Amino acid sequence: MTPRIRFQLLASILGTSLFALPVDAEVNKVEQIAPGVYFHEGDLKNQGHCNNGWVVFEDYVLVIDGNFPSGAKEVIPKIRATTDKPIRFAFDTHHHGDHAYGNQVWAENGAILVAHEGVVEEMKKFETGFYGGKPGRWEEAAKGRPDVAACKLKPPSLLFRKDMIFDDGKHRVELLHLGVAHTRGDGFAWLPKEKILFTGDACVNGPYNFTGDGDTAKWVQTMEAARQLGAKIVCPGHGEIGTGQVLDDQKAYFVALRAEVKNLVDAGKKPQEIKGALDDIKASVQKNKNIARYVGDFFPAQVEKVYTEMGGKPFALRPAVFDDHHPQALVQRGTLRDDEVLYTRPR
Ligand SMILES: [Zn+2]
Repeated sequence: MTPRIRFQLLASILGTSLFALPVDAEVNKVEQIAPGVYFHEGDLKNQGHCNNGWVVFEDYVLVIDGNFPSGAKEVIPKIRATTDKPIRFAFDTHHHGDHAYGNQVWAENGAILVAHEGVVEEMKKFETGFYGGKPGRWEEAAKGRPDVAACKLKPPSLLFRKDMIFDDGKHRVELLHLGVAHTRGDGFAWLPKEKILFTGDACVNGPYNFTGDGDTAKWVQTMEAARQLGAKIVCPGHGEIGTGQVLDDQKAYFVALRAEVKNLVDAGKKPQEIKGALDDIKASVQKNKNIARYVGDFFPAQVEKVYTEMGGKPFALRPAVFDDHHPQALVQRGTLRDDEVLYTRPR
């Protein structure tokens, strides 16, 4: 266990908010979090990369998340520096580009691509270009990302419905589908012995919740199921590694967001009134210090998503919010991932 994790555990035991403390930059650094278990925080800001993990088994390596092609290429030499075992499996936590577009790179390195079956179902919905229809998200992403343009989509082929277990007697990793959250194909990687949970974007540690493909009511339930596992170390899809507290906070964020919007719905507020209340909703959510860090650029879209889930009409915030930001610029800054651009353009 690294000093930082030890510190985080201590902080969580003492009930201290470690997130209020200045954080040391750990982006692009390999962190061994248990014997044979590694975490790598991807460079989201500059490259849109997701976080990765890997577990070194007796005969092979299981990698958590496919990343973008450039992210996969960033991480492979770092895995090689920790072990010479073959990278046999790469697990996509969901279908988004920053978690699955690097699949081809892993396949070329000998890995079989693993995911919950919902990942392929989502790909069939959004990757219409790959499946013979009109250009889909991949083609959109390729316009702004040379790494995507130079690669091709490779859907996972080893699929599970509820779970899949890797166990060589020393290490045990359970790939789990705990329900819908960020997408309809979310998978977690749970290490019951070490009590380490890799969450994909079902749980992030910062203002990175893209809600466009998810369901916030189910998200709360799925986070509760994840909390029940009793994780001591949480490796989120984006943001810093943390303790079980991150799961509590992620769940609490959606509970608070939904409660705020529900109050307005119950009061009969119209779409334009909700839109006008965005700053008030934000201020109210941010009062809880444990969840304030989840409020960011996606906030208006998150409110709209919850509002429409509760039966409201979209309030067409996108043109107003994004008028002066070209979507690709947001991608370059990492505010958005390429596959999410389609969902933030005025439609
Ligand atoms: Zn992501």
